[in-house]
Amino acid sequence: MLTGLTFVFLGGDARQLEIIRKCVELDAAVKIVGFDQLEPKITGVQEEEKVSRELLSSADVLVLPIVGTNENGEVSAPFSDKTLALLDEHLAALPKHALVYTGMAKNYLRTLCEQHGIRLIEMLERDDVAIYNSIPTAEGALMIAIQNTNITIHGSNCIVLGMGRTGFTMARTLQGMGANVKIGVRRSEHYARALEMGWKPFMTADLAAQSSDIDLLFNTIPTMIVTAQIISKMPRKTVIIDLASAPGGTDFRFAEKRGIKAMLAPGLPGIVAPKTAGIILANCICQSVMEEYKTRGDEM
Ligand code: NAP
Repeated sequence: MLTGLTFVFLGGDARQLEIIRKCVELDAAVKIVGFDQLEPKITGVQEEEKVSRELLSSADVLVLPIVGTNENGEVSAPFSDKTLALLDEHLAALPKHALVYTGMAKNYLRTLCEQHGIRLIEMLERDDVAIYNSIPTAEGALMIAIQNTNITIHGSNCIVLGMGRTGFTMARTLQGMGANVKIGVRRSEHYARALEMGWKPFMTADLAAQSSDIDLLFNTIPTMIVTAQIISKMPRKTVIIDLASAPGGTDFRFAEKRGIKAMLAPGLPGIVAPKTAGIILANCICQSVMEEYKTRGDEM
């Protein structure tokens, strides 16, 4: 339970609503800013009009949206028509024991937290969150694949690049739908595991040789890997869905020149399954807060 703890939420989209509901369910005191246009209202919370030092001074936990702030401190608040900003004076007002949660922080937020000695927790860095998130990501990638091809996934020739949290789930999901799955890896243990999974592994250094007969390529490697040289080997029917964080790992300019459909597909969990993505974050944030406060209690 979160009894006795005060959570302050600044802004956020539909995912944030799930986190707020979970905190209320677990008996936290919850104060929210940036939800004035939301209908119906969330029950069991205290709604504040603006971010203030007084509000922040009451927080044990401050929860920000997935992208915490921009580089000017502005916080995204799609359920409000007001601009929200998290400023130095607000961080200064937070109690020193407070925890700040976000998906991933820009330098602005990292620096502010460091300067004020406040612990910042970036949820998307956690392995469990990345693995859970890979499920809506793979489903979203399939949706894009279906929308952009005139063939079934079943029986199609697919390449997945990268066998990390997202690549593994992507390959397994495609396999489940009856696709022929090749996977590009750079480690021998990944090669062995991929073979055991029934996929056709290859080393990414050999990507060019693997690219001559593919229908769909899903990239999860966050570095330039689908180069002009690779794209020049692909049939024109190939569709490239780049899941890696911006700017992706594809030479989009050359793909367009060759007439190959290539698209960067960021933020899929929040787009295709905001409720699930919110529940993933809600469970992991609440568990993390309980662990943080338990550890502190044990140390005292
Ligand atoms: P991850 O677990 O770190 O996996 C990345 C994979 O890329 C690893 O297997 C890594 O290999 C491989 N890799 C990195 N550099 C490489 C290189 N130069 N050559 C060959 N392989 C290389 O990361 P993840 O959680 O799966 O996320 C992958 C990307 O997807 C990230 O950019 C993430 O931000 C993004 N993402 C996007 C969405 C979306 O909605 N589009 C959702 C979630 C994540 P090693 O294991 O050998 O290091």
